[in-house]
Amino acid sequence: MPPAAPLSSPLRRRAHPLTDPGGGHVLDDAAAARLAPLLRSPSSTAILTDFDGTLAPIVEDPASARPLPEAETVLRELARRFKVVAVVSGRPLAFLTDRLPAADGVALVGLYGLERSGTVDGPDALVPGRASRRWRPVVVGVVDRLRAVLPAEVGVEDKGMTTAVHWRRRPDLAELARAAVAEEAARTGLVAHDGRMSVELRPPLGVDKGSTVTDLVRGCTAACFLGDDLGDLPAFDVLDALSASGAMDTVTVAARDRESAPEVLAAADLVVPGPAGALDVLAWLADRADRADRADQADGSPD
Ligand SMILES: [Mg+2]
Repeated sequence: MPPAAPLSSPLRRRAHPLTDPGGGHVLDDAAAARLAPLLRSPSSTAILTDFDGTLAPIVEDPASARPLPEAETVLRELARRFKVVAVVSGRPLAFLTDRLPAADGVALVGLYGLERSGTVDGPDALVPGRASRRWRPVVVGVVDRLRAVLPAEVGVEDKGMTTAVHWRRRPDLAELARAAVAEEAARTGLVAHDGRMSVELRPPLGVDKGSTVTDLVRGCTAACFLGDDLGDLPAFDVLDALSASGAMDTVTVAARDRESAPEVLAAADLVVPGPAGALDVLAWLADRADRADRADQADGSPD
């Protein structure tokens, strides 16, 4: 990973959306300059984003999370211009398709890459389906045991091939939850990954947002990833490495709120205020790509 920019870097200022007399989206100059490489060639650029905490505000009950109202429209607009537009989430694919039912042209990638919609052409290796399905019976047993031993206020989310334990409603039970998860990890071979007031057990298949982003950006000349949590760091790392090697221009964006992990903020090229800030970035990219497209068409049309 290249060295992080100093904390005083103007790139770390919050994005301040302004009113554009033309009805478009405006970011502050520093943010716009950092994002500009993504607009050089949208047809070979990947726009990748996390879901919870990035497109959708964090809520107490994970089952009630919803994307910001404009998110689906903005994603759809991006997909008309950019080579790859994808939501890469730790949620099951079925959850993502339920929450973003009309995101035409947008690849939905669930469980960090274990599940994906059929929108993006790519190597089958992105979804090690059979291997991950073998873990389903193991996860079923783990979910049953965790629900039996943990108080009801600790949420045990059955995500199919993984399970996540949440203590947002009872932070005082964090250690109890962590201990129960560690015991299951030792018993089953599932691997524990920390999240926001949660820990998740996943199959040891080497699939994370880093491996998934590696597949999604293949053949691109530029890419960005927007995220908010520890599980997004592997995606940031992959893009930083591609940038450092000169393979492509990349931008990493952290959506910050009051419980953001400092590692995520420190790792990002650009920090924006929560899902609203992330959506501003995406809307700005869609708007600028659309304007460039229309300007090109006008240049090419007869007088
Ligand atoms: Mg997130």
